[in-house]
Amino acid sequence: MTTLSKLQNYLAEIAKNDKKGKKINAFLQLNPHAVEEAKKIDAKSRKGKLAGKIIGVKANINVLGLNASCASHVLENYESTYDASVVRKIKEEDGLIIGMLNCDEFACGWSGETSAFGPVKNPHALDLVAGGSSSGSGASVAAGFCDMALGSDTGGSIRVPASHCGVVGVKPSYASVSRYGLIDLSMSLDQIGTLTKNVSDAALLLSVISGKDENDSISVETKKLDFKKIEQVPRNITLGVLDFQIKDERIQKLIDKRVEEAKKKYGWKVQKIKIEHVDLAIATYFPLVYTEFFSSTRRLDGRRYGKRIEQAAGPEVLRRILGGAEISKAEHSGRYYYLALKAKKIIEQEFEKAFKKIDCIISPVVPRLPHKIGEKISMEEMFQYDALTSPMNLAGNCALSLPAGRIDNIPVGMQISCAKFEEEKMLQIARSFEKL
Ligand code: GLN
Repeated sequence: MTTLSKLQNYLAEIAKNDKKGKKINAFLQLNPHAVEEAKKIDAKSRKGKLAGKIIGVKANINVLGLNASCASHVLENYESTYDASVVRKIKEEDGLIIGMLNCDEFACGWSGETSAFGPVKNPHALDLVAGGSSSGSGASVAAGFCDMALGSDTGGSIRVPASHCGVVGVKPSYASVSRYGLIDLSMSLDQIGTLTKNVSDAALLLSVISGKDENDSISVETKKLDFKKIEQVPRNITLGVLDFQIKDERIQKLIDKRVEEAKKKYGWKVQKIKIEHVDLAIATYFPLVYTEFFSSTRRLDGRRYGKRIEQAAGPEVLRRILGGAEISKAEHSGRYYYLALKAKKIIEQEFEKAFKKIDCIISPVVPRLPHKIGEKISMEEMFQYDALTSPMNLAGNCALSLPAGRIDNIPVGMQISCAKFEEEKMLQIARSFEKL
């Protein structure tokens, strides 16, 4: 099938079900040049690795000429003047950008409901949230609007929607993918990653976007990911099942069942693993996010990029700005931010210790099923969405969400996390689970 005919099928599906029909509301903008670009790709005699792949981009990642609005009125008229490094790499390999995807406003959220342009519906159950903050990225892949999507993950924002939408979502190790061109939420935690229909596509897209980039000084060169190697079932693997009490036992049981199946089929070893202080992850995560988000939003003062953030943003964004302003006050110096950094380091060390004994850590992605759109749930309950994902950002590990089955007909994801820069092993383990 040509790129053009594939694109046209997706565009027809979007026209039918994104703004009309099921009204998933995944896309905020379609790429007006997509048809032209598809024809150019088809006409090439030597095509890149991503030729024929149609890719959606979360609206907090810059794509030249498109609107990186961050799903906010603040940036609704902002047109990107450059490509983020990940987007440049995708284009160099002939991937086609189909459009910009809805998300929580400035990636601040758990469910996709903080978007200024309406929530994204879960394609598997239209009355439920798709999970956030990369809600459009998860829903667009699940709904059959594109092959792949880019998302960003600060505390779980790729893995949570991947889990609820039943797709594969990868948060790469901290610093392994350039963040140049990502509108940041929290610099010491953010990572751009992938949402795809299967593990092989995740490996393919990651192999394109990973690696050192001069424009992101923290990015590092990692072992080149050989996506063909992903098919190999790794030998002598010890799975560590995270010892963590969650409320919905059905979710843990589902994960345990998958682990048992893998143990039987591949002869892998399984042991329970306790990570000290993992229960402090949420309390550590938010002071960091509030402070760093406050700092990064100071440029949104209305002079250069559209509206002043305090005037045009929604309540979740404002809460974080207020919180960050308070924590950053000189009189609190050291009390919150630096303490959180210390706790982050301790959690990171606990994971490093664990990964000396085991190859990967398995847990649910989200300790609960998605709530109904508009349902009032307490802040504490909302924070729980990230209880199992944010520790991986604090530690810098790579982690992914893999569809593990369904409960009440809603997809449930299994989290597989490996030590920093062990993406290849993580994807091999995930692919082995996928084959079961
Ligand atoms: N839910 C978390 C938050 O609101 C994570 C967001 C993210 O990963 N971008 O901060």
